[in-house]
Amino acid sequence: MRVIIGGGSGFVGRELTGLLRKKGHEVTLISRQPGPGRITWGELESRGLPPCEAAVNLAGENLMNPLRWWNESYKNDLFSSRIDTTKTLARAIGASPKPPHSWVLVSGVACYKMSETAQYTEDSEWTPFDLFSNLVKEWEAAAHLPGNVAKNTKQVIIRSGIVLGRDGGAMKQMLLPFWLGLGGTLGSGSQPFPWIHVSDLAGIIARGLEPPADTPSPSPQVFNGVAPALNTNYEFTKELGRILRRPTIFPVPGFVLNTLMGSERAVILTQGQKVIPKRTLEAGYQYKYPDLTSALKEIVEN
Ligand code: NDP
Repeated sequence: MRVIIGGGSGFVGRELTGLLRKKGHEVTLISRQPGPGRITWGELESRGLPPCEAAVNLAGENLMNPLRWWNESYKNDLFSSRIDTTKTLARAIGASPKPPHSWVLVSGVACYKMSETAQYTEDSEWTPFDLFSNLVKEWEAAAHLPGNVAKNTKQVIIRSGIVLGRDGGAMKQMLLPFWLGLGGTLGSGSQPFPWIHVSDLAGIIARGLEPPADTPSPSPQVFNGVAPALNTNYEFTKELGRILRRPTIFPVPGFVLNTLMGSERAVILTQGQKVIPKRTLEAGYQYKYPDLTSALKEIVEN
């Protein structure tokens, strides 16, 4: 099958590309930069969707870009890099003479309200309540295909938790301080820490890209892209310290994170949601790394 991956040069995209190629699929990336095996977003707009059977969008400005101050311009880029690319890809799918059989968007669990007690499945009702939940709302809406296309193209939304892997995302920034013995809980540590190993997220996306078994439904199927284990930030911190054989005695107080990151953004570290991948499990997905120990061991030891 030929697969188009928007933002496929990134952390999750590299894992997904490797997995798809191993399965014998052909991958073309959509990128801001031209290059072999890629088209640019401008080329997608001017020339239309290249022939493909499946498409996914993973593009988005890094939420934890250490080189940028938290300000309006950064926030605008977080929104536009996700919403505009998703709209562009959805529009190209809608205009294609032969649309793909599957269209996947990876969004985030930030749509679910922060709580230490509530548990959320894909069926949970939610309404936007802050910056990031508004982002998810607009991002997911941007992926909707017109009715005549949705009849033949399966639409999938995967709401990802914090993606753990050695080559990118949160772990890339955390491993050094933890190695140096400077790791510690963030905020109170009792907040839920919804996570997924990058290999499992790629596996769930790859399932989403498969041809539909039945006539596609007019609205997207949502899957929570999180591990089935429910962990807190404290549990994550202690387990990472244990596997690295390093102390984790330096908690980072919430007010420090609020000051360094901006309180609007720091909530994704100081608070969290208990997210259950109910539909992902019901669909038969078998996790390679269902618990923190196996996930962190793979990341630290390989
Ligand atoms: P990356 O930070 O690795 O970025 C993915 C790609 O997005 C980049 O390689 C880049 O491709 C493109 N990109 C970056 N900035 C912009 C921009 N300003 N405008 C357009 N494109 C841009 O993301 P991940 O692989 O970690 O995540 C993939 C998707 O999953 C993202 O949408 C992310 O929001 C979402 N997600 C990720 C989580 C995580 O923990 N990593 C958690 C929840 C959701 P290029 O340079 O080739 O244009």
